[in-house]
Amino acid sequence: MKISELFKSGKPVLSFEVFPPKKTSGVESITAAVDELAQIRPAYISVTYGAGGNTANTFTRDIAAHIKNDCGIESMAHITCVNNSKDEVLTIMNSFAEAGVKNILALRGDINPNVPPKTDFKHASELISFIREHHEYDDIGISGACYPEGHTEAENLTADILNLRKKVDAGAEELISQLFFDNAFFYDFREKAKIAGINVPISAGIMPVTSKSQIERMVTMCGASLPQKFVRMVTKYESRPEALIDAGIAYAADQITDLLANGVDGIHLYTMNNPYVARKIVGIIEKLL
Ligand code: FAD
Repeated sequence: MKISELFKSGKPVLSFEVFPPKKTSGVESITAAVDELAQIRPAYISVTYGAGGNTANTFTRDIAAHIKNDCGIESMAHITCVNNSKDEVLTIMNSFAEAGVKNILALRGDINPNVPPKTDFKHASELISFIREHHEYDDIGISGACYPEGHTEAENLTADILNLRKKVDAGAEELISQLFFDNAFFYDFREKAKIAGINVPISAGIMPVTSKSQIERMVTMCGASLPQKFVRMVTKYESRPEALIDAGIAYAADQITDLLANGVDGIHLYTMNNPYVARKIVGIIEKLL
């Protein structure tokens, strides 16, 4: 089923994101965590794609196929184009289709300064147009990424939203947001996106914080602002790892409660492959969905 169908009920859609193991470990190393996450019964689970993006990277496909075929949960495979040619994209799309994976998150991917990007695609919108031109993939749902605080390379939020419109015009059927810790950014972005004529569902990406190093890594990568309330929480509990996990769960649940009260289309939980944290959060918010 295309993910866009899930939004038609008008109820907020809860989804999870997982990431594949490092190349040195097998897919089996995360199967138990994925199975536990599937038991929480989100509407779908997405699987990230290694930034290096080579066609030998089959982990994303294998995990997405396992979620769909063995766990009975709709899945979404991420795919990036920065390091893939058109032929490579077709090879990957065929392997997704053969494995029964029916949804993709079409991304450009981050540009690695040590790996010159391939030249077939400059932006995610070009990847989406290319896939949409291939009618053999008409039954594949396509989603895109969006950035409530603006993408780090964009001149400003308005310019980024105008580019986002191109992604939707190319065929993205819904959007999943970058993580954020201050809902005000999301509400402002959602309003501006609507004014720009973006009318597809937008899921809010929420990352529960479970360690200080995780926050530092994420913030360096995506540039999310840290509100005072959040910084106070981390500062207070950083030396007590178990307390920080509980505080991170409480913070994420509070963010989600507010988003649901404000009519969000969906919640996309960056689970970090941690079923304990996901289960706790869903336990708090499930009756609100
Ligand atoms: P684009 O939509 O191409 O945007 C990139 C930049 O180009 C933006 O600044 C935008 O404003 C600008 N732009 C876009 N279109 C145009 C245009 N036509 N003309 C001029 N400028 C334009 N990375 C991975 O490697 N693997 C993953 O699995 C992964 N999963 C992600 C999941 C989510 C939900 C999110 C939010 C991000 C994910 N990323 C992942 C990170 C993503 O690859 C990076 O943020 C990347 O830098 C941008 O990807 P994009 O698809 O948003 O790019």
